[in-house]
Amino acid sequence: MTYPYLFEPLDLGFVTLPNRVLMGSMHIGLEEEKGGFERLAAFYAARVKGGVGLIVTGGIAPNRAGWVSPFSARMKSSVVSKHKKITDAVHAAGGRICMQILHTGRYAYHPLAVAPSAKKSPISPFKPKKLSQNGIKRTIKDFVHAAALAQKAGYDGVEVMGSEGYLINEFVVPKTNDRTDEWGGSAENRFRFPIEIVRRTREKVGANFIIIYRLSMLDLVENGSTWEEVVLLAKAIEKAGATIINTGIGWHESRVPTIATLVPRGGFSWVTARLKGAVNIPLVTTNRINTPEVAEKILMTGHADVVSMARPFLADADFCRKAMENRADEINTCIACNQACLDHVFKRKPATCLVNPKAANETILVSRPSSLAQKMAVIGAGMAGLSFAVTAAERGHEVHVYEKADAIGGQFRMAAKVPGKEEFRETLRYFSKQMELWGVHLHLNSAPGADDLLSQKWDHVIVATGVKPRELQLEGIGHPKVLSYPQVFGGAGVGKSVAIIGAGGIGFDVATFLAEADEEHRPDNFEKTWGIDKSYAERGALTKPNPIPSPRNIYLLQRSKGKMGKKLGKTTGWIHRRLLKFKGVQMISSVVYERIDDEGLHLLLKGKKEVLPVDNVVICAGQVSENALFESLKATMDGRVHLIGGAKLAGELDAQRAIREGVELGLKI
Ligand code: NAP
Ligand code: SF4
Repeated sequence: MTYPYLFEPLDLGFVTLPNRVLMGSMHIGLEEEKGGFERLAAFYAARVKGGVGLIVTGGIAPNRAGWVSPFSARMKSSVVSKHKKITDAVHAAGGRICMQILHTGRYAYHPLAVAPSAKKSPISPFKPKKLSQNGIKRTIKDFVHAAALAQKAGYDGVEVMGSEGYLINEFVVPKTNDRTDEWGGSAENRFRFPIEIVRRTREKVGANFIIIYRLSMLDLVENGSTWEEVVLLAKAIEKAGATIINTGIGWHESRVPTIATLVPRGGFSWVTARLKGAVNIPLVTTNRINTPEVAEKILMTGHADVVSMARPFLADADFCRKAMENRADEINTCIACNQACLDHVFKRKPATCLVNPKAANETILVSRPSSLAQKMAVIGAGMAGLSFAVTAAERGHEVHVYEKADAIGGQFRMAAKVPGKEEFRETLRYFSKQMELWGVHLHLNSAPGADDLLSQKWDHVIVATGVKPRELQLEGIGHPKVLSYPQVFGGAGVGKSVAIIGAGGIGFDVATFLAEADEEHRPDNFEKTWGIDKSYAERGALTKPNPIPSPRNIYLLQRSKGKMGKKLGKTTGWIHRRLLKFKGVQMISSVVYERIDDEGLHLLLKGKKEVLPVDNVVICAGQVSENALFESLKATMDGRVHLIGGAKLAGELDAQRAIREGVELGLKI
């Protein structure tokens, strides 16, 4: 077998899991939707059929104070039958599932928030109320009651969420717990709350029920736990009756990226490895594990007993089955972009996946063989064209893809060159493999015009020609020092000082690309850049960030007022901003561009004339659609010519919409 460690069964005493893969908790946001439980049942069942050993649901509150936001999912008697839809579907498919009990504490996005101390978090507008002693006891009871109801609903166990800065974690560390009663002060007192929850839950549910405890092993906030406390708490949790300990990395308010695409793969498994040997129950490791190779290596090197992957199962329900059948090159890999999963949840939209829009839409985006196989030409092999091509070919159509460049990928190919976005290459590998599997005919260096297409009698033509950079009306725009962003990513020489016009997603990408130093990819550089102290010298394991400065003097400019990167992803924008700041990139808003000449870029700043004496000016001022081909075919091929992706709408150009449009059209045509 290719991955012997990954697919080794795990005997928990009363139950044996088929492999070492845990599908980690993700809030999908369907619990609160009409028909959401049916959709969730289909979502989880698809992952079981895909070979996942054990699933943990998204967080369910034990009481109202623990809600994520007003009226979000909570365990109560009246919803047991709804949860049964999930457990029945999972069991019918031969799987196992645990319900996560999550009390948000001071992260609650509502005025009922409670915490050990009345200390507001920097990421929530609501100051929590300090729990009284009776309130604490009632909360413990609510956790136990939620576990009992989960058992009644048919779950195989529960995960007690003790990390990420939520209520339990808030009791554990001095940062958020300054109580002087029996629930605060000494480590013994601070640990009382989680220990009581686990002990009393075990008492209630009996021996043959899985209790996973998610332990914050690396808080990444000041005044968090010491390593000695992590070990002490792990031992106490084992003694209290937990079956498995899962790893929690970083609080939500931490200013260190823990799951974004620039985090190295498996970059936090060393934390779980540190705890190995301290307890006798299995340890699960997590964060940025997205390929079977990485998972196998972690298990083989003894860093953990089980690997948890969450987003990789949004990207591909069949991840395990493909790995098991030695078809890992067919896996649709999670690129850790957060754009369609976490960013959706923060916008109160159900989660799905940028590279796999079928995720959490299993009952909506269904692929059925076409009753009439047709011949189709797709013009453009960017994300929209590729997703259409493989979806239509899978349904039995004959699909030809024409791409004017010498490789597939379009804008995505450029993005893959940005440091920290290397994962994007996996999506290109995935589409290449799918085209091969479904017999898509790929024609590179080929851009048929309207006459060519009309002469070939296609049943359908799909125009996915993407975008071209917006041309600016600015004096000196033809100066040799002016470069477009495709030229920069294409390898054009760029001088030591650069001004970037436009600070959208692409301006940020270009700045990151140009700010990269040669030694950037040293393995220990991630921890140094972000100030992660593997020696735990201080509580919370933080140290002073020590990034490598940019080898270039870079100005990132925008005409509009205020903070830059407002349109970047909710959960990742701060990372891009912080990284550029680390690198010394000067971000200047409210500029008026005047002209470009030998001296540099002339502009008005707060009404004052300035010159940025730069070697190059890179234009990242958005794009316009390349839709001329569609316009020429429209009249003749009415109803049989289709426009998708950036070619349809450049203003909102994004890969998420492009891929989804490709899939939707591919399923319909
Ligand atoms: P964008 O986000 O629309 O940004 C275009 C930038 O150009 C803005 O900063 C705008 O700022 C400036 N601009 C627009 N017209 C201008 C003009 N006539 N003269 C001078 N400046 C002008 O477009 P983008 O950066 O090309 O990104 C496109 C899309 O790609 C994004 O919406 C995103 O979905 C996706 N993307 C995202 C990321 C990411 O999230 N990390 C990365 C890459 C791409 P002012 O008008 O204020 O000057
Ligand atoms: Fe992964 Fe991005 Fe999909 Fe989320 S949206 S699961 S981060 S690929």
